[in-house]
Amino acid sequence: MDLLFAARYPFVDSVSEIPEISSVSAEDVVSSPYMEDVRRRGLSRVMEALESAEIGTPSLLGKSDRFTEIMSYPYARILVSCVNDRYLTKRYALAEASRAADYLEEEDPKRIDAIARTVGAKTQIVDGEFKMHFADYLRLASRIKGSEWKLVNHDVGKGFVTLPKGKFVRLLQNALQDRIESELPLDVPNAIANAVRGDVDAISYILADRKSRFATEFTGDLNPDHLPPCIRALLGGAQSGTNLPHAGRFALVSFLNNIGMGSEQILTLFSQSPDFDESKSIYQIKHITGELYGREGYTAPECKTMKTNGICVNEDDLCAREKVNHPLIYYRIKSGTGRRD
Ligand code: SF4
Repeated sequence: MDLLFAARYPFVDSVSEIPEISSVSAEDVVSSPYMEDVRRRGLSRVMEALESAEIGTPSLLGKSDRFTEIMSYPYARILVSCVNDRYLTKRYALAEASRAADYLEEEDPKRIDAIARTVGAKTQIVDGEFKMHFADYLRLASRIKGSEWKLVNHDVGKGFVTLPKGKFVRLLQNALQDRIESELPLDVPNAIANAVRGDVDAISYILADRKSRFATEFTGDLNPDHLPPCIRALLGGAQSGTNLPHAGRFALVSFLNNIGMGSEQILTLFSQSPDFDESKSIYQIKHITGELYGREGYTAPECKTMKTNGICVNEDDLCAREKVNHPLIYYRIKSGTGRRD
C-alpha cells in the first residue's frame, strides 16, 4: 500500500502494516515532540467534525504531509474515545466518512473496490460498471430518502444492483460511517488518556458549549409520550441524523409548530442530529412555520396524506379510533387538550 492511499483512507486495516507506521507507538503519538503536527491535525479532525460535520482535505503532496495525515487519524480516535460522547462519536464518524467519500469520488474503480472490501460490501466493479449486492444496497440505502434510491428505479440482475459511481460512493460513505462509529470508543489506557487531557478538555468545552447553546433556547414543555407514533419516529430520525424525506421533514416541523413550538425551539430539537447544519435548518424551519414571510405556518398533514407519503408508522390503538384522522387529534387526546371519545 502506498502512503498516499493510506493518507486518504487511514481506517484501512493494512495501513498499520506500513513499516513507517507500524514502528510508531501510541506513546510516541501522544507525547513525542516530533509528533506535534500529528496531534494538531488530529485535534483539528475532531474540532472540524464537531463544528461543521466535515473534515477538510489538506495537501498530501509531501511524504511528511501523508505521514501526518495517517497518524492523526488514530490520534483523533483516541480523543473521541476519551470524550466518549454519543453525539460527538456519531458526528465524527459522519465527518470522517464524508471526507473519505470526497476522495473516492475522484478514485479509479480498482481503489474504490478496495475500499468497498474493507467495509464488507459485496460489490462488482467491471468495465466501469458499479454493482452492489442487493442486500448491501437495501441496508445502506434504507436511510437515504428520495424516490431515486428506491430499488425499483435501478437495474437489478443476478442479485446485484447497478449504480452510477456517485451513488455507489454515497452508499460506501454510509458503510464507512457505520464502521468508524462501531469501532468507537477505544479502550484507552490511563497513561495515554492523561497525556491527551489538554486536547480532550478543549473538545469537551466546545461540545458542552454547542449543546448548551441550543438547550438554553428550548423553553417548551414537549412530552414525547403525547406525540403520535409517526411524529415520534420522525423526531427520532431527525435527532439521530437520518436524512428525512421532504414530506417527513415538512410533517414534523409543521406538527411541532401547530402544537405551539416556535422556530428556535424546533431548531433545538433538530440540533441534536449529528449532521445538523444550523443555517440550512433554520431556513427550512422558518419557511414551514411561516416566519420567513411573516404569515401563518402550514398545517400538518392529515393521517391520509401521511399514509400516502409512507410516513404513517407504528400505528397504535389510539390511531385506530375512527375520530383520529389527524396526528394533531391524536396529540390533543393524548395530552388531554381534546376529546377522548
Ligand atoms: S394513524 Fe395518523 S397519527 Fe397514527 S401514526 Fe398514522 S399518521 Fe400518525
